[in-house]
Amino acid sequence: GSVPKPLVAGNWKMNGLRDSLAQIEKVAASEVLAACNVDALICVPATLLHSAAVMTAGTPLRIGAQDCHHQEGGAYTGDISASMIADSLGSHVIVGHSERRMGYREDDASIRSKTVAAHKSGLTAIVCIGETEEERLGDQTLDVLRRQLAGSLPDDVTAENTVIAYEPVWAIGTGRTASIADIAEAHAFIRSELSHRYDDECSLMRLLYGGSVKPSNAAEILRVENVNGALVGGASLVASDFLAICSVY
Ligand code: PEP
Repeated sequence: GSVPKPLVAGNWKMNGLRDSLAQIEKVAASEVLAACNVDALICVPATLLHSAAVMTAGTPLRIGAQDCHHQEGGAYTGDISASMIADSLGSHVIVGHSERRMGYREDDASIRSKTVAAHKSGLTAIVCIGETEEERLGDQTLDVLRRQLAGSLPDDVTAENTVIAYEPVWAIGTGRTASIADIAEAHAFIRSELSHRYDDECSLMRLLYGGSVKPSNAAEILRVENVNGALVGGASLVASDFLAICSVY
């Protein structure tokens, strides 16, 4: 069968001032990127969203955001809506990152409504799931993934409007990565859960691995079956590292 075109997505988190747009410019203009068979995306802080999107118009690099509110507008001080992201020319939004699940107590139901809002505004949602270290040690990993998928995904997902990112919480920003066998097991499980719920539609949905992906380990991780790219935090901040990961493809 056919396999999805891979996606390498950067997540800058709460990093990046205007002078960091030089990194975006470097990635967007890179011959390396033009030569790779990969979709590339960097999710920047909201403050940089529009500048980055304007700067990369007409290049292979897409620009996205890191979270959205589930409502389109209203009395939600400090939040931004999916329609604001689309209006700023962002194409994607990360929802349910573990830093938000934990730091802001976001639950599966709220992530599901954010995903619906993203789709309504024409954005591709990158829905993050993943077990904590305690859950892995307690042999609950697949149960957690099943529950998060069932709760976080609405019924309208397609291979175009949704990407799943599997990010073991204990591997994010720690320099530790899941073993190749564990990544393969989790991704095969996610693929099978999706196929039960969505039939054939999901066979081209991108499943990203995230958690301390860097140039030195990317090749090994990205070649695992059902791994269709990566969600990259720290290593996405420097253009040359991000490009080195893209160039695996
Ligand atoms: C992330 O923020 O989604 C992530 C995977 O971070 P890092 O690559 O730094 O572990």
